[in-house]
Amino acid sequence: MIFVLDTSFFLYGMDPSSMDGEVIITPEVEKEVEKGFPARKLRYFTDSGILKILSPEKKSLEKVRETAEKTGDIGKLSETDISVIAMAVEKNAVLLSDDYSVQNVARVLGIECRALREDGIKEIWKWTYRCTGCGRRFGEHHEVCPVCGSALKTVLLSSPKNNSRK
Ligand SMILES: [Zn+2]
Repeated sequence: MIFVLDTSFFLYGMDPSSMDGEVIITPEVEKEVEKGFPARKLRYFTDSGILKILSPEKKSLEKVRETAEKTGDIGKLSETDISVIAMAVEKNAVLLSDDYSVQNVARVLGIECRALREDGIKEIWKWTYRCTGCGRRFGEHHEVCPVCGSALKTVLLSSPKNNSRK
């Protein structure tokens, strides 16, 4: 099975490697994810081959836009939304999104769409951020250490495949 993920998948802290199949995002999703999700984590998933970043063809994008105009969803869809639907059309993939307009257009196009929150994906990765200066640990991402201003390092606490490393 092939899955196409939208941005919220990452912002919810879900783990692409927990998906049973090929996992694809578009460059538009990558850009959005990088705003709220450390690039280091995203690189980990792409470097390890868990995640593929692919661009949909123009033809697929046009098909999605046409359908969205018919359903009246076009005004509610971002370029990112359109890109993930088009990618799902091309790969005949399952689309994971909580966005109602995305789900609606995808279904009209015959794409299986699953909501993230009700999909039962429970496996999430736990990360912590350790200061390279003072060594303090933080549960949330900061640009620099709020205490001493040094750079923070992302540390993987646990993953579904390695729950012992705590
Ligand atoms: Zn510090």
